[in-house]
Amino acid sequence: MIELDGAAGEGGGQILRSALTLAMITGQPFRIRNIRANRAKPGLMRQHLVAVQAALQVCGGEATGAALGSQDLTFAPGPVKGGDYAFAIGTAGSCTLVLQTVLPALLKADKPSVLRLTGGTHNPMAPPAQFLQRAWCPRLAEMGAHIDIRLERFGFYPAGGGVVEARVEPSAALRPHTWLARGERRAAYAEAFVAGVPARVAQRELECVGRAMNWSEDQLHVRGLPAEQGPGNALLLTLEHEHATEVFTAFGERSVTSEQVERQVVQRARRYLMSRAAFAEYLADQMMVPLALAGGGGFTLDAVSMHARTNARVIETFLPVRFRFDRQDGVDSCTVALR
Ligand code: AMP
Repeated sequence: MIELDGAAGEGGGQILRSALTLAMITGQPFRIRNIRANRAKPGLMRQHLVAVQAALQVCGGEATGAALGSQDLTFAPGPVKGGDYAFAIGTAGSCTLVLQTVLPALLKADKPSVLRLTGGTHNPMAPPAQFLQRAWCPRLAEMGAHIDIRLERFGFYPAGGGVVEARVEPSAALRPHTWLARGERRAAYAEAFVAGVPARVAQRELECVGRAMNWSEDQLHVRGLPAEQGPGNALLLTLEHEHATEVFTAFGERSVTSEQVERQVVQRARRYLMSRAAFAEYLADQMMVPLALAGGGGFTLDAVSMHARTNARVIETFLPVRFRFDRQDGVDSCTVALR
């Protein structure tokens, strides 16, 4: 039985999610204590509990300690089964993080799967659905994994109620891949989504982005959503390059000005653009499990986070791989190889 300390490194939900994914794929049971010990509300939140339940449905395994607030969980996986699944988070907990927990396992299933999730699709501290569609899935496709994600309805914090559907084709094995450079710029645009929030909020955010990034009006898009999908406001900056696409996101709130929302995304986009790296921080940590499953590969990244280092240690516990973080000519890189 693999023993994990949920307080290690960053001490967040990723330790649990990576463990669930890799337990399903490798068949190894694990016990995790101190779940999310370093978060303001430690233990299993709705999103994490649904991730455990989703994993159990997909592989028919057994778990003890799978309850809200639990900080101690034992998980014993069974064989992964493809098919049709529906997972309801019931709050604005992130659908995309639950999806990322089970998708790599379903790539190894006996048949295709369709997953329907309800909950949050645009949450702070999680990838928005467009991030999966534009940044994550295309990179997995280059490794031989075919996942199609459809966003049917937005779900913002705190109301939730979003709907995401994912279709997964099993693939024999993921292929190693290396992304050293992002290549030529293909497109750059900003979108301000508003649901039940005045369009002028979106316009102001986009004016700020236009000024800060020196972008023209045809790169700035107001995306009005039906009011019942709100209240919510998300500002997304998408940078498409030849070898990688990045999506930077910030959320509007009552007490936050348009300038503050703009600054959050622009700062991250600028750090990425100045770094010459292929991936920004979040895409980097989300590519680690797929690359480890492929048994090799790597990427350059704009910043090595504690999140990435913590994820590396968890993955190394389940798979015979070793991650390396290096820095050469001012650019950080992450590589993984079989040990
Ligand atoms: P954790 O905090 O351990 O539950 O992990 C959060 C996950 O969400 C990490 O994989 C991050 O890469 C991802 N994430 C957080 N914020 C964003 C964002 N704005 N865009 C894309 N991914 C994000």
